[in-house]
Amino acid sequence: MIQFQNVTFHYEKSSTPALSEINLEIAQGEFIAIVGHNGSGKSTLAKHINGLLLPTSGSVIVCGYDTKNENDILKIRQQVGMAFQNPDNQLVTTIVEEDVAFGPENLGIASEEIRARVDRALSSVGMTQYAESAVHNLSGGQKQRIAIAGILALRPNILVLDEATAMLDPSGREDLLRTVKRLHDDGMTVIMVTQYMEETVDCDRIVVMNRGRIVCVGTPSEVFRKQDILEKSNLVAPEAVKVRNELKNMGFEIPDDVLTAESLAEAVCLLL
Ligand code: ADP
Ligand code: MG
Repeated sequence: MIQFQNVTFHYEKSSTPALSEINLEIAQGEFIAIVGHNGSGKSTLAKHINGLLLPTSGSVIVCGYDTKNENDILKIRQQVGMAFQNPDNQLVTTIVEEDVAFGPENLGIASEEIRARVDRALSSVGMTQYAESAVHNLSGGQKQRIAIAGILALRPNILVLDEATAMLDPSGREDLLRTVKRLHDDGMTVIMVTQYMEETVDCDRIVVMNRGRIVCVGTPSEVFRKQDILEKSNLVAPEAVKVRNELKNMGFEIPDDVLTAESLAEAVCLLL
C-alpha cells in the first residue's frame, strides 16, 4: 500500500540528508510503529506519505500513486489522514460534532452523508456522548480523539500519527492508543510515530530510525532483542522487556514474546 523506494531527502541542498536511502514497504492493514531519537527523521518520513514533502531522489508510492505526480496528490491525500502532536492546532470549531463535520463540509458532501460520517467517526473513537460538547471542555486525550474523528470523517485508508500521544497524560495516552488499536482491528493501515517504546508492543512491525536511516525493522520481539542497535540509536526497550532480559541472563526461561508487565508477571508465575 505504501512503498518507499530508495528515498533520500534534503531540506536544503547542501545540508546533510534528513532521510537517506529509505526502502520500506507497508502492506494494507499493517500497524507500523516508527521510533527513533529526536531529529532521526521520523516526521520527515511521515510527511512523505501524503506528499507534504517530496523525495530529493527515489520515489514514494501510495496506493499505486507516485507522490511526485501533481495530478495524483489529491487522490493520495484522500487516502492518508495525518494526526499531529498538538490537538489544539487540529481543532477548528467550538462544538465537537461541528469540528468532525468540518472536513466533509469543505468537500461539499451532502448533509445526510455528513451526519452519517460524523456519527460513525465519533463512535469509532468512543466519543459519541460528547457530540454536542464544547471542545474546550475536553481533556487532551479526548481532543486528540476528536481530531482523529475529524480525519476519519474524510474516510482515509491510512492513518499516520506523528507523536499524537506526546502531549497527553498517561491516561489520555492509553485512551488514544486503545482507539488506534481498535481502528487497526477494523482494518485501518496505521503508521504511528512515537517516542514511547511501551506503545509499540502491539504493533505488527517496528521501524527504528537513526540519523535519517532505517537501522532495523521487525516485529516488537525481534526489535527488542537487538539491544546493541537500540543502544546505538539512543532508545531503551520497555521496562518489562529489560526485566525479562535480566531474568534470562540469570538463567530463567522467559519466552521472547513477553513484552508487557502483564505477560511478564504470568511468565514469572509459571516459573514458581
Ligand atoms: P524527528 O521527527 O525524528 O524528530 P525530523 O524529521 O523532524 O526528526 O528531523 C530530521 C532532521 O531534519 C533533523 O536533523 C532536523 O533538524 C532536520 N529538519 C527537520 N525539519 C526541518 C526543516 N523544516 N528545515 C530544515 N531542517 C529540518
Ligand atoms: Mg518529529
